[in-house]
Amino acid sequence: SRSAIDLRSCIRDIPDYPRPGIVFRDITPLLLDAAALSEAVRRLAAYGAPRAVDFVVAAEARGFILGAAVARELGAGFVPARKPGKLPHETISAEYILEYGVDALEVHADAIGHGANVLIHDDLLATGGTARALCDLVERLGGHVVGCAFLAELAFLGGRERIAPFDVCSLVTYD
Ligand code: 5GP
Repeated sequence: SRSAIDLRSCIRDIPDYPRPGIVFRDITPLLLDAAALSEAVRRLAAYGAPRAVDFVVAAEARGFILGAAVARELGAGFVPARKPGKLPHETISAEYILEYGVDALEVHADAIGHGANVLIHDDLLATGGTARALCDLVERLGGHVVGCAFLAELAFLGGRERIAPFDVCSLVTYD
């Protein structure tokens, strides 16, 4: 059988982006690589498979890329979480803290049925603010967060603690 693909080597470090002193983890080389893209989707879906996932919820914009592919792989639906004002129907909104100020994410109020099992996805877990907002939206709509699946995690920022008690899976960890 083929040897395992090293997903870490497909994520590129961009120093001083978006600001001096920050190392941005750029996932676009992984997206370019057909085998790595397939492996990442397969492994994220493998985490969701035993959890009877009804919907994958992901935040714009990078969360959409793998989120919809994972939903398709699981035979689940996909729920886009968007910045305020982008969704056309009735929405609910959750605010989250950024380094400078607050932002918010919205989902359609009728997106997730009561009792639905939901997998949260984003490309990268940093402080956990984004994922926490997604979990809050799901719970307010009566859904159950059955897990949170990320391509990458900046473990030193404590995002896991922020989304506890929900379970977290990340394919690549930066300590
Ligand atoms: P958090 O809310 O956990 O602090 O930040 C996570 C969000 O910021 C994710 O939506 C992610 O796309 C974005 N993000 C923050 N830092 C990085 C990074 O180094 N690389 C990538 N690809 N996304 C990042």
